[in-house]
Amino acid sequence: MARFPRIVLATGNAHKVAELRAILEPLLPGVELVPYGGPSPVEDGDTFVANALIKARAAAQATGLPALADDSGIAVDALGGAPGIHSARFSGTGRDDDNRALLLERLRGAEDRRARFVCAAVLVAGEERLEAEAVWPGVVLEAERGEGGFGYDPLFEPDGLGVSVAELTPEQKNTRSHRAQAFRRLAEQLD
Ligand code: IMP
Repeated sequence: MARFPRIVLATGNAHKVAELRAILEPLLPGVELVPYGGPSPVEDGDTFVANALIKARAAAQATGLPALADDSGIAVDALGGAPGIHSARFSGTGRDDDNRALLLERLRGAEDRRARFVCAAVLVAGEERLEAEAVWPGVVLEAERGEGGFGYDPLFEPDGLGVSVAELTPEQKNTRSHRAQAFRRLAEQLD
């Protein structure tokens, strides 16, 4: 990606900006990652990739820079893949704690608690479009655990780890997560 010396990060979510910086800095040495302060577009796509493209295009148009965006969420088997692309506003309030409370309520007594975090990563640079998607499989816990991370992290235990994502250090999360895997795949396409 060194052919793009400055890239705008098309997200207004401060947690995601911090994670994206931690993930991208080793992948894109020497690239200046510029925060995006412009208006958020309406995310009315019906897939993670479509919504990531909407965000990246808006930031690229507003700044004239190449733009990286992600769209992500949690897909729960027992809920037919919901909340999926609607994860950020699942409860209607846009608050992470309300979203987690609703998820626990919907899964009360459920035996099947399989779920996965999903992330679509895209780069828009002029006419060029690159896309990559990744999942992080696991289960939804019956109660919150841990203080780290954001969103559904305290309720999600990735396969094989024995702890929630909110109990991981940022370094542990940012080397394993759906977001880390998706952006690694995107960076590979540029090499
Ligand atoms: P987006 O900003 O439209 O992509 O919404 C993503 C939403 O999915 C966030 O608000 C969280 O609720 C959830 N989400 C995405 N990635 C993560 C993660 O790494 N941990 C916890 N929740 C996440």
